[in-house]
Amino acid sequence: MPDRTEVQLGFRRDAQGRLTISGALLQGVFEAAQVGTPAYVYDLDGLRSSAQALEAAFGAAPHLTAYAVKANTAGSIVRALAAAGTGADVVSGGELEVALGAGIPPRRIVMSGVAKTDAELDLALGHDIFAVQVESVEELDRLAARARAVGRRARLGLRLKPGVEIDSHAHIATGHDAAKFGIALDDLPAAWQRVAAHPELEAVGLSSHIGSMQRTPEHYLAAAKVVCDVARARRAAGHTLEYIDFGGGFAVDYGDAPASEPAAFVSAALALKAEQGLADLTLVIEPGRSLVAPFGVLVARVVQTKAGKERSWAMIDAGMNDLVRPALYGAKHRVELLASAPSTPEWRVVGPVCESSDDFGSHPLGPEPSGLVALRDAGAYGYVLASEYNGRALPAEVFVSGGRVAHVSPSPGRGAWVKRRLEA
Ligand code: PLP
Repeated sequence: MPDRTEVQLGFRRDAQGRLTISGALLQGVFEAAQVGTPAYVYDLDGLRSSAQALEAAFGAAPHLTAYAVKANTAGSIVRALAAAGTGADVVSGGELEVALGAGIPPRRIVMSGVAKTDAELDLALGHDIFAVQVESVEELDRLAARARAVGRRARLGLRLKPGVEIDSHAHIATGHDAAKFGIALDDLPAAWQRVAAHPELEAVGLSSHIGSMQRTPEHYLAAAKVVCDVARARRAAGHTLEYIDFGGGFAVDYGDAPASEPAAFVSAALALKAEQGLADLTLVIEPGRSLVAPFGVLVARVVQTKAGKERSWAMIDAGMNDLVRPALYGAKHRVELLASAPSTPEWRVVGPVCESSDDFGSHPLGPEPSGLVALRDAGAYGYVLASEYNGRALPAEVFVSGGRVAHVSPSPGRGAWVKRRLEA
């Protein structure tokens, strides 16, 4: 066992090419967890330490790192990130209850979402969270009505639609003019009018989130500048503000292209905020993927190979129901054997689901692949998007700390699925 003060955190290969998790052999840790395949395995030490590094990037600047809980809702993960200093960005009553249940104080939680129900607004108001991020002029009237109904003042931020396009997959871009998210700049006068008309509303901030997988801070800063312009105008008109929120969306290198570190986005955002004369405002950011993706893998087993004229397949027992990102966004996850380093030839790695899109791409798994494989960088938008399609039970989750299994969340199992469907 390596000296734990010197281990390199996260998933790496040792000198023999075997995959390790924070210095321990992944295969050994996985076997110790005694769960079947497929199963997600997370490195709690790695994600805690990367969140701490991000916190350090703020220095003494007033800030709130609101972890976008949607990326991974596991209690062990939300608690580990909270221990490193993060708050939460939630988009539903369920996510709000997970954040609160994990011990995040209400005043460190923001709630976004284009169609929050009355019940969700009531829950947020009841807990007096840091801010409800309002995404339309119409929502302001509804929020005021709910605040009246529950006898609370509503702390809110306006989520702006800054009209900035990002170079990302269309399904994860949210800041352009046609997006359903946020309030168009043309509608801002009407929004401020509604805020003034409802004494229950207290506008404390402004936010934007233009989408996921931004590899450099360029577009992030363009949208942030729009938020700053609106903040300066609001203050010039004599109103107070507490925070500006530039959103999340920092990319992860899935093994295909480099991405700036989240700390680089933070430094650039702090510099912009100071340059704009807004250094006193709390800077909120909403990273999801970048905090958790690299610290999770989906472990699966090679079921069999199949030789064809044009290609050869390696069939694994994880499918698009377990990890849908490749089918949904054409995303790439490296697939690697746990026991040895990547080597030719390449195999087309596919799952068992009856859809042609249940395809994880081509990967160098060596002459005759067998045993366990890891689908890398699966800590974000993995388990949370899993389904039971094709009668497949949700996967187990294994949480590792100090090179040992800290906690196992078992799969509900096939039997539970069969029972529920027969009872339906
Ligand atoms: N904030 C909001 C409002 C979002 O919708 C999302 C993702 O969809 C995020 C933050 C997190 O984005 P990412 O996981 O790319 O950092």
